[in-house]
Amino acid sequence: MGKKKGSGQKKGKTKHSKTERVKVSKFYSVSGDKVDKLGKECPKCGTAVKMGAHKEKDGKIRYACGKCGMNIFE
Ligand SMILES: [Zn+2]
Repeated sequence: MGKKKGSGQKKGKTKHSKTERVKVSKFYSVSGDKVDKLGKECPKCGTAVKMGAHKEKDGKIRYACGKCGMNIFE
């Protein structure tokens, strides 16, 4: 049982900025290594759809499309 520190989930304060990409920022809280290739676009849905980056245990980055569910490993 390890205790997680700083899982980065802040509730409440929702800033209503004019950007539509607010959701993306939650993927920055990937623990450990940096994920610097955020904002990959889904090849299926087109450039308007950004994929979420998830760091896998083996060091690969998995990109998941929230729209069509497609996964890409790099
Ligand atoms: Zn997609």
